[in-house]
Amino acid sequence: MNANISKAAEAWDAEDSSDLYGIDAWGAGYYSVSSQGDVQVNVDHDGETVSVSLMDIVSGMRGRQLDMPVVLRVRNVLDDRIATLNESFASAIEQGGYNNVYRAVFPIKVNQQCHVIEEIADYGRRYNHGFEAGSKAELIIALSQLRDVETLVVCNGYKDAEFIDLGLYARRMGYPVFFVLESLHELRLIIERSRALDVEPLIGVRMRSSVKVDGHWSQDSGDRSIFGLSTTALLQVVTELREVGMLHCLQMLHCHLGSQVPNIRNVRSGVLEACHIYAGLIAEGAPMGYLDLGGGLAVDYEGASANSTHSMNYQLDEYCVNIVESVRETLDPLNIAHPVLVSESGRATVAYSSILLFNILDVRDSQPGAIPEQPPEGSSEFIGHLLDVLQRVSPDSFQECYNDALFYRDELRELFYRGRATLRDRALAEDICLAVMQRIAKLLPELERVPPELESLPEQLSDIYYANFSLFQSLPDIWAIDQVFPIMPIHRLQEQPTREGILADLTCDCDGRIANFSLPSGPSTTLPLHALREGEEYYVGVFLVGAYQETLGDLHNLFGDTNVVNVSVNADGSFDFVGELQGDSIADVLSYVEYEPKHMQEQFRQVAEEAVRSGRITLEQRQSILSAFRDSLQGYTYFEHH
Ligand SMILES: *Cc1c(COP(=O)(O)O)cnc(C)c1O
Repeated sequence: MNANISKAAEAWDAEDSSDLYGIDAWGAGYYSVSSQGDVQVNVDHDGETVSVSLMDIVSGMRGRQLDMPVVLRVRNVLDDRIATLNESFASAIEQGGYNNVYRAVFPIKVNQQCHVIEEIADYGRRYNHGFEAGSKAELIIALSQLRDVETLVVCNGYKDAEFIDLGLYARRMGYPVFFVLESLHELRLIIERSRALDVEPLIGVRMRSSVKVDGHWSQDSGDRSIFGLSTTALLQVVTELREVGMLHCLQMLHCHLGSQVPNIRNVRSGVLEACHIYAGLIAEGAPMGYLDLGGGLAVDYEGASANSTHSMNYQLDEYCVNIVESVRETLDPLNIAHPVLVSESGRATVAYSSILLFNILDVRDSQPGAIPEQPPEGSSEFIGHLLDVLQRVSPDSFQECYNDALFYRDELRELFYRGRATLRDRALAEDICLAVMQRIAKLLPELERVPPELESLPEQLSDIYYANFSLFQSLPDIWAIDQVFPIMPIHRLQEQPTREGILADLTCDCDGRIANFSLPSGPSTTLPLHALREGEEYYVGVFLVGAYQETLGDLHNLFGDTNVVNVSVNADGSFDFVGELQGDSIADVLSYVEYEPKHMQEQFRQVAEEAVRSGRITLEQRQSILSAFRDSLQGYTYFEHH
């Protein structure tokens, strides 16, 4: 329950909503609440902040018949993330007296969508922002985006001969494509293919860090990490390369601690260990020159600035300064030249620029019906008992009232099962019980200690907002790893949200719900929301969803890809739709599961034909039924309002 809810409704303004949802903390300046009560996106144009209301963008979508749900990507925000990452490292390097450069590579797996990748290649070109590929398909994406011979491509993951050949061809054309070794077996294949094609490879080794990191992936970090070469295997690589006269190809050390590392101390320990291994490889005779520190730069989804799974206890500047300083301080005493610093920040680069928008279709509220003062004539004795309990609820008696209400309600249900109470009795008993629970729930925030039994009462009593999206398709990490994203309505924020709700998606799967929110007041099982207004849409946004969500999703209940809109905000506050992508049609998703839409149409035609033959429908009816079927096949998989 939120304390703000008790503030007088008339006195509520947009700023109260801003505080309630904590948008200034997690929005990182990109998102805020306008004085009109809309969420706005703020972008920089030559030092001036230009703001656009998300509701204006939504109205532009409506005009283009782009139905909800929609993934909205703001190009300026992506550009700003790229610039900020590169410039933060550049300034840490300049201030720290570091004698080499920083090179970013974007790990394609974090968002493989073409518009995102092309923007990173185009805008990132001024910083030589490169790519990290973890599979053959991702390498093909990276190779198609080569813009400059200064731009790195780093290949991780298991590589077959075809993968290696592709990388070697890019090498022959002059591009710095690194193969980072995952195994010794791979090394032998790389040696063999480079001889066959007569191209010298650039080789990196992935170390297995012994640093255990905090956060979600804590279990997979440290000595038990499934990735990387042990120190023994690293030495074996050196030996084998020296034997074939290719030790000069070993130029990169790669170290990836894990994703969303919330604690800066883990980052420092990781860098320290990597530097000593880097120095060790030089002592073994490898030339080296590149130190790739992988991903891990976190996103503060909660805006809490804390060392907790969905947050981080450091800022980007601090991250860069820590890395640059640690490398310099470790290598200087060993008289080792500063390497090119590489990092593979995925999450922190793309999370901010995407927002999932959806509308609410319906609300199931938990309001009891009208409750009479006196038990109705001839009703069961338990109704009278329940009404007594309702009168008695107080801070001193709530536990007893809770038990009594459930007891009498269950007694009445028993009577009902034996045919001794009417449907009306049962409905009234349930309403009174609900009213008791609501009075108790109102008392909870004032209690010093909430009995564990009652902790989930607010969630059980909350409204269910039925939302037009699929969790499995659009927010898979909520389902898979209990990820927390900032979620809030994008309009009506000058109005007090008077309801507490959870969100249920269209899949009707009990996992397809969101009942875990992070608010400035703490974790909450419910989200403050507004009551729906008749004939008016209500829009909710899930923010910071640009990383990992877009392609991990699945086709649960055959809800397909959503519509996607890319906008670019201009200096005068106008905005352009720079890319619109229709989501999957029903025919698209059916073909993913082996149906042939043309054939289905033919099958359905036969059904209709049979109905005509046996006189159940007319020929005209057949025509309209068949065209409805055809239109549905071509339509969106989500709820449409037409
Ligand atoms: C996933 C991955 C990344 C991206 O990590 P983020 O924490 O999203 O920046 C970088 N490098 C490698 C090797 C990865 O597997």
